[in-house]
Amino acid sequence: MPALFQPRLINGPFEDPGLLIPFPFERRAMLFDLGDLAPLPPRDLLKISQVFVTHTHMDHFIGFDRLLRCVLGREKDLDLYGPSGFIGNVEGKLAGYSWDLVDRFTSRLALHLTEVRADRLLRRSYHCGDGFAPAGEIVEEPFDGRLHAEPALEVRAAVLRHSIPCLGFALTERFHVNIHTTGLKALGLAPGPWIARFKQALYAGADRQTEFRILPVRSGSERTFVLGSLAEEIARITPGQKIAYITDVGDGPDTRTAVTALARDADQLFIEAAFLDSERDRAAATHHLTARQAGELAALAGVRGFTLFHFSPRYEGREAELREEARQSYLQMAARAGRKMGHTGIGHGA
Ligand SMILES: [Zn+2]
Ligand SMILES: [Zn+2]
Repeated sequence: MPALFQPRLINGPFEDPGLLIPFPFERRAMLFDLGDLAPLPPRDLLKISQVFVTHTHMDHFIGFDRLLRCVLGREKDLDLYGPSGFIGNVEGKLAGYSWDLVDRFTSRLALHLTEVRADRLLRRSYHCGDGFAPAGEIVEEPFDGRLHAEPALEVRAAVLRHSIPCLGFALTERFHVNIHTTGLKALGLAPGPWIARFKQALYAGADRQTEFRILPVRSGSERTFVLGSLAEEIARITPGQKIAYITDVGDGPDTRTAVTALARDADQLFIEAAFLDSERDRAAATHHLTARQAGELAALAGVRGFTLFHFSPRYEGREAELREEARQSYLQMAARAGRKMGHTGIGHGA
C-alpha cells in the first residue's frame, strides 16, 4: 500500500528536534518544530506550508530565521502554530531585523500565526510588503483540540506540561485514496492535474452521482464520468494514516491522559527520550521523559510504531541503551494491556 506520509526527522537524535512531513505528489510539506534546519535544502524549505512549534525553547525555534530567509520574497502563505506566548515570540523575531527593502519584492509573503491556549486560539497575520507590521488586531476563537483542518486531514494539539506550556501534535488523514494505474489504463486515462481534483472531490464528500469532467492532458476530447463509478474503476480507499509528535514533557498522570488521547492508535509516534530511567529524577526536574516512560506512553496509546529522538548529550554513544529500554517497556506495557503484538515497527530515530 503506498504510504501518503513519509515523515522524517531533520537531524540526528542528539541534535535539534524537527520533523518534516512531505506530501508525495504535491509540492507541499508540514513541519513539526523549528530546530536547526541546516540539513534542509531550499527546495524542501519552500514546500513547507504549515509549521507546528511545540514551544519556543531555542532548540525548537532557532530555525525560524532560516525558514523566513528562504521564503522571503515568495508568493506564499505560511501558517505557524505555537503555544502560549507564541505571537510575542514571533513578533520579537520579526522586530530583530530592518525591513526597509521589502517593498521592492513584487511577490507577497504572508505569515499567519496561531497561538494555542488551553481553551482558545489567538490569530494574527503579517505581510512582508508591510514590513511585517501586524495586519489588524488579534482575533480569538474557541479551541476544542482541532488546530488545522482541511478536507483530507486534520492536525490536533494538546497543551502539555514542560517547564512552560508545550504542545503535542497529531496529524490524522481521514482516509487514503490510492489510484491504481491498471484502472487508469483500462479507461484510457493519463494521470494529470485532474487526479488532485478527483481526490479532493472524494475527501470533500461530494455526491457520488455528480459528473466529473477530465480535460485531456495533450490531445483528445473532454471526457465525463459519474464520480462514484470512476472511483470504483481507478481508486482504492484505505484507512488514513496518523502521525503523532510528542517532546519536552514531564511524566505524570495528566501527561499520560493527554498523550494517550492525542496519540491514540497512531501509525507512527515520534517521542522524546531524553534520559535513561536510572536518571528519572533528573528527567522529572527538567520536565523531560525517560526512554522507559516514552515506551510506556507508546504502548498505552496503542501506537503501531514509534521513533525516539531528543536524547540528552550525556548519552552520546549509548543510543542503543535508550532504544532498548524503550523497546522493553513498550513490550511489557503492551503485554500487560493484553495487546497482541504484530508488526511493531519500532523506529530508530534519524
Ligand atoms: Zn524545552
Ligand atoms: Zn528541547
